[in-house]
Amino acid sequence: MSEAQRPLPQPTDMTQGYWNAANEERLVVQCCRSCGHRQFFPRPFCLQCESEQVDWEEVSGNGFIYTFTINHRAPNAFMKARLPYAVAIVELDEGVRLMANILNADPAEIGIGKRVKVVFEKVSEDMKLPQFELLR
Ligand SMILES: [Zn+2]
Repeated sequence: MSEAQRPLPQPTDMTQGYWNAANEERLVVQCCRSCGHRQFFPRPFCLQCESEQVDWEEVSGNGFIYTFTINHRAPNAFMKARLPYAVAIVELDEGVRLMANILNADPAEIGIGKRVKVVFEKVSEDMKLPQFELLR
């Protein structure tokens, strides 16, 4: 039996800068050059002022768990091997929220408000996924 394939994100022109940075183990979000607003996920314009002058900005990768769930049923064969696993909305210290797995943690350790830091999980020869671990 062959090993289950992990479904991977498909970069687009809009998201390519994010994936390029992740491959260099840097976490970036969009920042508006006109008003300074930061946003995630990437969009063609600033949600605050509608300027199209949005650039990638590296962020600390530190934040906290805004909310989370522990999955006990997997959407595919690859993730089934990881059950149970945590999916969290992480709020970065820079104020933006993104969704990721919390790696290397017992589900009982995970909680709203817990501090986390970004880690980069290599998922293929040319892709790393920004994920998070608990700060201990
Ligand atoms: Zn703006």
